[in-house]
Amino acid sequence: MPFFNKMRKRNTVRWLFLSLGITAVLALTAMNIYSLYALRESTIESAKDNKKSQLDEFTFQIRHQFGGPFRELRKLDIEKLENSWEVSGNFPNHFIEVLVKASDDPLYDDIYYNPSDSDACYDSGQPVYKFNKDLKMFTLVEEVPELVCDGFGISNSRIKALIDEYRFNNKVTFDAHRSMNLALINLDSRSVIGHLNFTINRDYLVDELISKQLKEQFGPTEETGIVVWLRDWIQDEILSGSDDAHIYNRDVYEIDMRQRFPEMLENWVLHASFLQSPTVAATNASLTRNLIVLGFAVIVLFGALVFMFINAQRERELAQRQAGFLANITHELKTPLAVMQAAGENISDGRVTDGERLKNYGDHIYNESVRLRKMIEKLLDVAKVDSGQTVVEQAPHQLSALVQEYLQSNREYIRSKGFELNVQSDENLPLVMVDPDHLETILNNLVENAIKYSSDNKQIDIRLSSANDQVFISVADKGDGIAKKSQKLIFEKFYRVENSLTAKTKGHGLGLAIVKNLIELNGGTISLKSAEGKGSTFTVSFPAMIKGESPIENQISTDPVRETAKIDSNQYV
Ligand code: ADP
Repeated sequence: MPFFNKMRKRNTVRWLFLSLGITAVLALTAMNIYSLYALRESTIESAKDNKKSQLDEFTFQIRHQFGGPFRELRKLDIEKLENSWEVSGNFPNHFIEVLVKASDDPLYDDIYYNPSDSDACYDSGQPVYKFNKDLKMFTLVEEVPELVCDGFGISNSRIKALIDEYRFNNKVTFDAHRSMNLALINLDSRSVIGHLNFTINRDYLVDELISKQLKEQFGPTEETGIVVWLRDWIQDEILSGSDDAHIYNRDVYEIDMRQRFPEMLENWVLHASFLQSPTVAATNASLTRNLIVLGFAVIVLFGALVFMFINAQRERELAQRQAGFLANITHELKTPLAVMQAAGENISDGRVTDGERLKNYGDHIYNESVRLRKMIEKLLDVAKVDSGQTVVEQAPHQLSALVQEYLQSNREYIRSKGFELNVQSDENLPLVMVDPDHLETILNNLVENAIKYSSDNKQIDIRLSSANDQVFISVADKGDGIAKKSQKLIFEKFYRVENSLTAKTKGHGLGLAIVKNLIELNGGTISLKSAEGKGSTFTVSFPAMIKGESPIENQISTDPVRETAKIDSNQYV
């Protein structure tokens, strides 16, 4: 069938588009998440780089402090210094001024001079001098402090290893944080004329210089996102920190970076821990925000996609059902017509003269025409509903009276189908505004369905009741019931549950669609309770009219259904 082939093709295309759509949404989402994370990582990375260069800068600044008095040293003529020392036992004035400046610098305690290229303390006979700031000259020292000896020793061995290739006239060597040593080099003769030793004021260096600058540059941590400690790794001692609120503790803080002081203070190292800086915090917050918005957008997109897909699917099913219906209905219309035509032909031919057979043919024609009429009526009902032309002629009615009317014409028919019919009604039901013709169609369809879809247990219960300003009429059977998944669908046009029983029964899936539509046109609702194999109960409810509102209320003094109930008592539960 080309129609169904076309449908199948379209269905494949729809699935294809849905999968493409979902893949696109997933890909876009993944890409977005990736770039969001990449952005965050790069922000964190650049924050790290920034901090790394801050640390570099810091150590550079500290180093710079040591060089304070000696900026112009490279321009010095060392030979002149050597000559001056040999002649007068002192340096020329301009260099003495440099040494005075160094003495004034709180970073240095004392200045010593060893006028030889040998190890002053350990090579016997080598004198060591101490600079006297007030006298602006050097005096011989009897006992040289050990740290000064160490300084000279380090300076001497370092320059000895370098002297052949060395390009400058002085070489600075640190003895940890204890002293700074200056080897004075005569580049022409490639010889060391002597070593100057500047003992370092450790307290000043730690408390005044490093601590202050650490706090200035890196504290408070809440603002900078970094905490830096100065640690003596040989002594395993923390000397200072950038924020007193953050005490060094390896269990609490992860050390993200270590920074040494280049070529000086060898035992000391800066430990830095990165806490969440405002930039990183803002990035994280924006990441969370973006993820939430993205998640929401994806859900909406998915929802829209799935919604569109389901809608298309439904339309497809409807179209399929409609197509099936058309094929069916033509067949159904033709069958009774064929029967009627054959019977009519036989009679008009005068071939059938026997009274009994004539009656038989007449019955055939009558029954088939009734079936045809019903079918046509149903079709017209659907057409009317579809085009919005259904006329509603509502009036206040007692539902029990309408049910009674319906039963009067259908009780025999129901019984003839082998059904036990039970009717029950509350007393004094309020009136409702309904179109009686519509109610008849509704009852007709519900009862017809109860008959059609009850194969073994043939019992129909009609019940009328009222509660909460609503009047209810329910039609229950003990038939085959309806599977949960089909319960919502059965009110849709052309929908028929697909099972062996429906395959056997005639129908086009229109009855309940018409029923629902008529009920809604009359301001009511319909609900269904059903369990497979146990039966179904369709309950229709209409808003009750307030008592006394109806002009005919008093005319209905008895409950006709109840009356019938008394008469047919053997049929009532
Ligand atoms: P039709 O009866 O012409 O198929 P309806 O719209 O009246 O169409 O009903 C739709 C479908 O709902 C039926 O095909 C049937 O499968 C199911 N159904 C309706 N009423 C009942 C019932 N009382 N018991 C079991 N199934 C029912």
